[in-house]
Amino acid sequence: MIATNHALTGAVIAVVIKQPVLAIPLAFTSHFICDAIPHFGVDLKFNSRAMYVWLILDGLFALSAAGFLLWYGVESPVLLAMCGFVAMSPDFGWLYYGLNNKLGKVVEYDTLTKIHHIVQWYQKVPGIIIEVSWATLMIYIIIRAQTI
Ligand SMILES: [Zn+2]
Repeated sequence: MIATNHALTGAVIAVVIKQPVLAIPLAFTSHFICDAIPHFGVDLKFNSRAMYVWLILDGLFALSAAGFLLWYGVESPVLLAMCGFVAMSPDFGWLYYGLNNKLGKVVEYDTLTKIHHIVQWYQKVPGIIIEVSWATLMIYIIIRAQTI
């Protein structure tokens, strides 16, 4: 999934679980479950202009969502941010392998990255429908969970 949706999922876990000791590991685990759901993806060459444009766009989506939730006045924004970051964090593995020219060399991946690679069985353009629906659902759950 896109980073924004991993972060929103982590934020939902924070809102529902409330206890950092449980919420943070669950947020990390959520990454692999979310990536197993059919989602948006295009083959972008590592270090290409298109890859950076996409990363900036996704980052802006995530910051916009975070800005909206802060503006809304969510409870425990620090825990939401922490869980959001932890939920996104497994994708830093791709950055590591990309920077070391090992992206796509599955046999050289560590066990967790191999699992990460295997669970992503569907990453295609039509997955954008799932991404938009997921983001809407996550924001809805976060808003509904507020007691304000
Ligand atoms: Zn991932």
